[in-house]
Amino acid sequence: MVLKLHNNLEKKIMDFHPLRDDYVTLYTCGPTVYDYAHIGNFRAYLFSDILKRTLLYNGFIVKHVMNITDIDDKTIRDSQKNNQNLIEFTRFYTNLFYKDRDSLNIIPAEQYTKATDYVKEMLEITTKLIEKDFAYVETDGSVYFSIEKNKKYGQLVELSKDTLKDNASGRIKKDEYDKDNAQDFALWKAWDAEDGDVKWDPKEYIGQDTKIAVGRPGWHIECSAMSMATLGETIDIHTGGLDNMFPHHENEIAQSECATGHDFVKYWLHNGWLLVDGKKMSKSLGNFYRLKDLVEKGYNPLAYRYLTLQTHYRSPLNFTIDALKSSETALRRIFSFVQKTQDGGFINESYKKLFLEAINDDLNVSKGLGIAWNLISEKNISEKDKKATLLDFDKVFGLGLDTIENIEIPEDVKNILKERDSAQSHK
Ligand code: AMP
Ligand code: ZN
Repeated sequence: MVLKLHNNLEKKIMDFHPLRDDYVTLYTCGPTVYDYAHIGNFRAYLFSDILKRTLLYNGFIVKHVMNITDIDDKTIRDSQKNNQNLIEFTRFYTNLFYKDRDSLNIIPAEQYTKATDYVKEMLEITTKLIEKDFAYVETDGSVYFSIEKNKKYGQLVELSKDTLKDNASGRIKKDEYDKDNAQDFALWKAWDAEDGDVKWDPKEYIGQDTKIAVGRPGWHIECSAMSMATLGETIDIHTGGLDNMFPHHENEIAQSECATGHDFVKYWLHNGWLLVDGKKMSKSLGNFYRLKDLVEKGYNPLAYRYLTLQTHYRSPLNFTIDALKSSETALRRIFSFVQKTQDGGFINESYKKLFLEAINDDLNVSKGLGIAWNLISEKNISEKDKKATLLDFDKVFGLGLDTIENIEIPEDVKNILKERDSAQSHK
């Protein structure tokens, strides 16, 4: 049964066929490590985890790379506020990210790449783009990508020709901006006082002749460089949240394809937004949650994982504490079923088929959950077989059911339970 995924490049659901037999290259835009990741960020990483698990469930071999954005406007600003050097400051939040990842039972990527380790590769792509006339060096030694020279600019998001014409002569140094403000974007930013001691000298990396000034990379070039260095020039799948489509992913495509001359990514997948109580999550509205805030309120992190499974990855997800409570209750019921049921059963093939159909239909995991609940209440399947089937489904759900210890019920208790069942059935 072929796996179908919604490819944002084509804006439709398509059969998934990797470039190389059953080997899949997957890249996920990872965290900007200047603070704790919040539950909205984790929606994005739970989505890429479900995608990876579904690929594995289908028998693919997956190489998953996630970057750690340790160089950007925010990490530099906040490391300085804290009087810490960039590496030390970002290491702290990177380690917290790994801790939260583990408590959500997200399978670690095969490789985590830090931007600071790939500056040479970023400079090499930048140089190639200058040589091919897709980029130019400004008077201060910064480098900008010329969107006018790239006829295919706007592959992921529609940009009106008027917008492009009006603004294309401008340049934008900031990493984040909106669609109506599409302009030449910075591949490399010449050092300024705000950067403090964060700077690299291109001469040390790409030779004395370069006209590129001492400075630092722009955000967008980071992912192009890390994806190509670890997974090759063309990869199968790239994921991120919806907000990454523009400008980040659009710019990644432009600079990568102009540098190499061929496709950068075959399938682009984006997760929908997480709202809290129907609103954008923000500290000022008091509806901002990190995973540790939920844990401090007494919730199991996996209840949050369960909650996200109930909404399709492309739809908006409205987080509420009530919904989290219901998820925790549902999770406990599944845990208790697994705990009290004996091992040694067989996977029910008709349920497995239904489950595979659901998840292979663009990751319809919420339907998969419904199938799991139907299975639990099914009358004609033994409890042992139900458990074996659930454990199989959990390779995708990732609720950690395989780590729950089975409780051995002593013989005398089993006899009492049997007597009780028989008494109940005879009223
Ligand atoms: P950042 O650390 O800001 O680069 O974000 C990391 C990932 O989290 C990106 O893929 C974002 O698109 C995603 N993200 C951030 N906020 C939310 C949210 N509220 N809902 C869903 N995804 C989000
Ligand atoms: Zn990225």
